[in-house]
Amino acid sequence: MGAGIVGTATSWHLSRLGHAVVLVDPCLASAVPEASSQRRLNGSTASLGVLMGHAFRRSSGRGWRLRQQSMALWAAWVSQLDHPTSPLSLQTPLVQLAASDEEAERMRQLAQARQGRGLQFLEEPALPPAPTPWPRPGHGALLSDQDGRVDPLALLRALRRAFAAQGGEMQATTAQCLERSGAGGQGRWRVITANGDLLHVDAVVICSALGSSQLIEPLGHHRPMEAVLGQVLELKRQDPQPSWENWPAVLTCGGINLIPHGDRQLWLGATVEPGTVGDASLVSAMKTLNNLAPAWLKDAECIGQWQGLRARPQDQPAPLLEHLEPGLILASGHYRNGVLLAPASAEWVGQQIDSSILTGS
Ligand SMILES: Cc1cc2nc3c(=O)[nH]c(=O)nc-3n(C[C@H](O)[C@H](O)[C@H](O)COP(=O)(O)OP(=O)(O)OC[C@H]3O[C@@H](n4cnc5c(N)ncnc54)[C@H](O)[C@@H]3O)c2cc1C
Repeated sequence: MGAGIVGTATSWHLSRLGHAVVLVDPCLASAVPEASSQRRLNGSTASLGVLMGHAFRRSSGRGWRLRQQSMALWAAWVSQLDHPTSPLSLQTPLVQLAASDEEAERMRQLAQARQGRGLQFLEEPALPPAPTPWPRPGHGALLSDQDGRVDPLALLRALRRAFAAQGGEMQATTAQCLERSGAGGQGRWRVITANGDLLHVDAVVICSALGSSQLIEPLGHHRPMEAVLGQVLELKRQDPQPSWENWPAVLTCGGINLIPHGDRQLWLGATVEPGTVGDASLVSAMKTLNNLAPAWLKDAECIGQWQGLRARPQDQPAPLLEHLEPGLILASGHYRNGVLLAPASAEWVGQQIDSSILTGS
């Protein structure tokens, strides 16, 4: 249930494992949009697709393990999904500018500890000269060779294509209600859709982000989530000879990602705003990078803007990966990292389904 990146990635992975999968989401009525201006947005189509796995500060805990697992899978996933009709690539590297001496020191230690993972601290004088100046907080930067981004729209297209090629079925409708089948029924679960169809299935995987809670609440599973809005700007440079030479795929400054694309364009995002209503003043502050924006960035013209909602679990760390009861699996609430964590989430769901088949639970 749910054809954002988490649900589509999980469907493709399960079909690769040999399962018969039906993917259900009203968004499947239309093709994945080609460009930001055409986005009908769920979290995934609003996303920037930044993959920050190795430069993550912590070195233990579930969040760290999921990131590591995903980063180990991404290269193979992209090479399996890349296809002439739905090209896909990983764009690297990622550079995070230090905001203070304290942050620079933490980054130096991280780079020291994770040299084998392509991390390097760039002292301020050694930052590469770029024809287009980077914003310069003045404390150096952390370079991560293997982090970067994947285009979320290209990823969704590639996942849909690969899923269909595996024989996966897509239904453009909403799952309205889930019911446990009685003894002797076909499959363990019934899914009633807004089309009025009844699907009999052995397992239901809920990947419906903010729509997940209301699907499982009537079954006695209380997993509230809150919306956290993100706004993104698409900018066009006005300077006469634009160049992205010496720019990484992603440059992060004060938590804002700068993502160059094409000759003159740049995505800038995203804000983090609890609730569902965007605040225009946060977008203005983002455009000035809190007063660190170089002149070319201040002068850039805004040619597009969009927003989307992230699903943050209340009182629990993101994401929610839970086998709630036999054949009812929740893979949702990925908050700010659903693209990054999609491969690890999908593998986790595959393991749950395979182990429930083995144990008959
Ligand atoms: C502006 C912005 C920037 C972001 N940048 C990044 C980033 O750089 N890197 C990163 O890793 N993450 C990023 N994220 C977060 C990431 O986009 C999300 O974590 C991720 O997209 C969640 O994917 P999902 O598939 O769980 O949810 P979604 O993409 O929200 O999809 C959920 C789907 O479920 C469907 N649905 C809901 N209810 C039902 C139902 N009853 N029946 C059927 N279908 C249903 C909806 O129609 C929807 O299509 C960003 C988010 C935003 C908003």
